Amino acid sequence: MHTMPGARAGGGSLGSTLAGLAHAALGSRGCLFTFHRAVRTEDWPAMPNQGFHLDLGFLNRLLTHLRETGWDIVTLDEAQRRAEDPRGGRYVNFSVDDCYRDTAEAIVPLFARHGVPVTLFLTTGIPDGTLPLWGAGLEEVLRTRDVVHLPEGRLALSSPEERRAAYLRIATAWDGSEAGPRYSDFCRRNGIDEEAMHWRHAITWDMLAALGDDPLVEIGGHTVSHPRISALDPEAAFGEIAGCRERIGARLGREARHFAFPYGRRGDCGARDFALTRRAGFSSAATTRKGLVRRGQDAWSLPRNTLSGTHRHIAAAEAHLTGATGLAARMLNRV
Ligand SMILES: [Zn+2]
Repeated sequence: MHTMPGARAGGGSLGSTLAGLAHAALGSRGCLFTFHRAVRTEDWPAMPNQGFHLDLGFLNRLLTHLRETGWDIVTLDEAQRRAEDPRGGRYVNFSVDDCYRDTAEAIVPLFARHGVPVTLFLTTGIPDGTLPLWGAGLEEVLRTRDVVHLPEGRLALSSPEERRAAYLRIATAWDGSEAGPRYSDFCRRNGIDEEAMHWRHAITWDMLAALGDDPLVEIGGHTVSHPRISALDPEAAFGEIAGCRERIGARLGREARHFAFPYGRRGDCGARDFALTRRAGFSSAATTRKGLVRRGQDAWSLPRNTLSGTHRHIAAAEAHLTGATGLAARMLNRV
């Protein structure tokens, strides 16, 4: 679909036609950002899985920068309304995927201080305690201990570089359906109370309930157990998609209107899955395919730009805001 908002409105003079064209090219557009966790600036350098954590100081600067440069920070409800409006202007939405404890303790309060909204895409197995947070537990152990015990032997750790390398190596080896059992074995070998560790990192239903019906916090669904949806049979995929929506409704009395796919890249969710989110009652579904939202964008396969913790400069976010990263990804066929 190709529309040119504004091009007809100017009474036919060349100047207004050019203004209309410029508006069509540069004007109404939305940029959806996503990230997972955030830590204080002073804690960031020692995180073994740095890409997963935004520096809160950076996030604070980015929110200030966006407001100073004329971007409206909006909910997805509002983004959806603007996507249909030729005068929708420039808008940004931030969504936090999965939802860890720091979502409630640090991220929501930061957005509240700026007086702008944030969307939480909740994996309901986290507050239900049914999804092993193996990455978070592994990371904490590698960050805080000088010796860890693995099936292949003892591993001594000292520098942040060694801890990062160990995280990358172990997490890569564990990733997949066996991650949960491997993490349980790791906890036993290292004397970790797996249950207690879960609640050190998980958001709780009480925390979510305490957000009440704050208009600055929008709660959407991100499955029950964080699977790769495209890998599931239709019934299981629908169960994951509809299940989180039902659970949020039952626990919080709030309707989850928006959904985000776990992983969200091209191979992780496709046409069948987009249709399932619609059938489950969601009014939008977001991927992690890079790009901007323009008029005519399909609501059940929204592009969304991942902010990595390792990109701590405004320029990295600017590349998403101009659409350059989405364009580059499409040219490289790597969305
Ligand atoms: Zn996720």
